[in-house]
Amino acid sequence: MRMCRCVNLILMRKCIFLALFCVNTLFGLDVFVGKTTIITLEQIDLDAPVYLEDMQIFSQPNPKNKKEQLLLIAIDYKSKLGEQTIRYMYNKSPREIRLHVRDVAYKSEKLQVIPDKVSPPKKYQDIIYEEYKEAMDIYKLSTPNLYWSEPFVYPLESQTTSDFGNARVFNGSLKSYHSGIDFKAAIATPVKASNDGIVVLAKERYYAGGSVIIDHGFGVYSCYFHLSDFAKKVGDAVKRGEIIGLSGQSGRVTGPHLHFAFKIRGTSTDPLDFIKKINALVANK
Ligand SMILES: [Zn+2]
Repeated sequence: MRMCRCVNLILMRKCIFLALFCVNTLFGLDVFVGKTTIITLEQIDLDAPVYLEDMQIFSQPNPKNKKEQLLLIAIDYKSKLGEQTIRYMYNKSPREIRLHVRDVAYKSEKLQVIPDKVSPPKKYQDIIYEEYKEAMDIYKLSTPNLYWSEPFVYPLESQTTSDFGNARVFNGSLKSYHSGIDFKAAIATPVKASNDGIVVLAKERYYAGGSVIIDHGFGVYSCYFHLSDFAKKVGDAVKRGEIIGLSGQSGRVTGPHLHFAFKIRGTSTDPLDFIKKINALVANK
């Protein structure tokens, strides 16, 4: 089946079925809010845009097989459930992949932090907005360089204390969902880069505290928050496993830990799910 090799077996079966009838719409890929979907395509016009609904997304080379393009798609946590369509071109003909967006039973957790970190004083509101805008501007950029080629690693070896996707009730009011995972980490534990990339942010921020963001290329970013110290600065090239800073308890925290997150073109995705899926494609190849 050369038309499309997907990570989802259900879709693969349907691809085969549909290909027999020369249909260029592929049906039935179940995807989940907050999770990553990776689709491998051998046939795609690289000079034509790819869309998920109205949003332009980008394919990137598979570092272990240059004949293949990968679509890395983060399904937004708040995405509407039901059908969504990916549209791309091959031999100047339109092709479609239909996704079924499914819900996930994420948990809820209650946290107590200092009141200023829930309802920030007016004097910090401009700073918070500027920090938010700065980060969003970074995440939206899709650098056309594939900086990495080996599997992703965890930033430190420790147990996780809060999963991705938990609805978060700060001091009794629902404020957000958890857009990364937390690793238990004593203050000043070395934090490693998850993969090769370029540091695009290294600074203190109001909520995230000491923050490092690494661009891995094609809109994929890893984030390391609440650090107590930085080992890298903006513009530095980092290698997988290289120390980028020390963990801490800066920003909106209940205690020392490392918040680790991934963004794919501005959409948060479960880091453990992302690493598991991308590594399944590139490990031991
Ligand atoms: Zn966190």
